[in-house]
Amino acid sequence: MALRVFNVLGREKQDFTPMHEGRVNMYVCGPTVYDHAHLGHAKTYVSFDVIVRYLRHSGYEVLYVQNLTDVGHMLETGEDRILKQARQLQAKPMQVVETYARSYFEDMDALGVQRPDISPRASAHIPEQIKMIETLIAKGHAYVVDGSVYFDVTTDPDYGKLSNRKVEEQEEGARVRVRDEKRHPEDFALWKRAEEEHILRWDSPWGEGFPGWHIECSAMAKKYLGETFDIHGGGIDNIYPHNENEIAQSECANDAPFARYWLLVGSLTVDGIKMSKSLGNFVRIKDALAKYRPEVLRMFAISAQYTNPVDYSEESLTAIKSGWERLMNALRLTRRQMNLAPHSDDANAFLATVEATRRAFLENMDDDFNTPRAIANLQDFTREVNGLLNSGQAVGLPVLQAIESAYAELGGAILGIIPAHDGSDSRSAEREEGLIRLLIQLRAQARANKNYAEADRLRDELARLGIILEDRPDGTIWKLE
Ligand SMILES: [Zn+2]
Repeated sequence: MALRVFNVLGREKQDFTPMHEGRVNMYVCGPTVYDHAHLGHAKTYVSFDVIVRYLRHSGYEVLYVQNLTDVGHMLETGEDRILKQARQLQAKPMQVVETYARSYFEDMDALGVQRPDISPRASAHIPEQIKMIETLIAKGHAYVVDGSVYFDVTTDPDYGKLSNRKVEEQEEGARVRVRDEKRHPEDFALWKRAEEEHILRWDSPWGEGFPGWHIECSAMAKKYLGETFDIHGGGIDNIYPHNENEIAQSECANDAPFARYWLLVGSLTVDGIKMSKSLGNFVRIKDALAKYRPEVLRMFAISAQYTNPVDYSEESLTAIKSGWERLMNALRLTRRQMNLAPHSDDANAFLATVEATRRAFLENMDDDFNTPRAIANLQDFTREVNGLLNSGQAVGLPVLQAIESAYAELGGAILGIIPAHDGSDSRSAEREEGLIRLLIQLRAQARANKNYAEADRLRDELARLGIILEDRPDGTIWKLE
């Protein structure tokens, strides 16, 4: 099966065919760097990380651009988010931007999110934005009022095609506060004149000012990916006005289609309400990482298909954590048995199970990156693996290796929820293995001597350390709790 994606532009599942064979050019709206990132950001950027990992796994060469918004993203009060934070911290705006850009990458690195190939900043692309605004004015799509420039939505017959809004309807029903200098309530700022106190300001043909939020993505996508490119991503809550305005600006300035596939990620919610800084219902990624392993947070972020919301609660994270532990325990057991595996193998038939899992997993990922079903494939697989390893059959190295590499490929390389190691380096893992084996032997010796109290004490002490012994006809094995 070939990859199919849900294209928000047109609202249907479509075959994915990039413009250039074997290559995918992709742009994702990045964060506004004015505070530490929260779990809502984790959901969005882990989702795109899995999408990029899967495209690469499928053989595509991907050029992944994700911007950093460091100017122009205004609050409803009309205040720039970065300037507000700078005022509160008594810092320079670019100090705020630098602090939180670093913090963002630190969090994404910790979550195993592969870095975008290019992370352009809005403030470093002012000339490109001014040039595009000049083109829009020259083509009659924008007008200047007293040092500010607005996009005229009535000049774009396609305006509203992504979010399914009609300009006329909006005009009639509009109860929004109309800014006097705009001709139409839906017109939006491409450039704003800077008031006296505004620190972030640049020279422009219209006087000193700063760009509106939307124009940066149009200008930077064009610079790095061209006028038309394959995938545009972002969070569903930015579909209007941000993404809609990007399309309007780009298609009117370039006279060419903008992005061909729009993939938008559902929100992370708390009791059904979007997690956001402004509502105060957020959990910072750094705080979550203090409590949960990054793989557990990733598995949580992709526990619903990327287009759907995921609801946050401690209970749901705890459930994800135990699901993740089940996968890891089966993998640890596999790795442990690899050290002792016989060369003969009476479990060769299991190779077919491994292959069937792989196929089902990839088919689910081909179906618009259906991660919950792909995770379910790994969970079913884990049940089969546990059944095999507990069956008492001699499982040889080829089968164990096939199991391990299925976990590494599907859970590790694609989903990023299986770490390459169990969290310990191989020498200390060897030492741990040796010490546990020694205690198991001492316990067996105690039992042989009918010293059952001592045998039980050894078992219970190990259990207190989270090491569970299991007696089988062919000996005792251990696993982590
Ligand atoms: Zn954007």
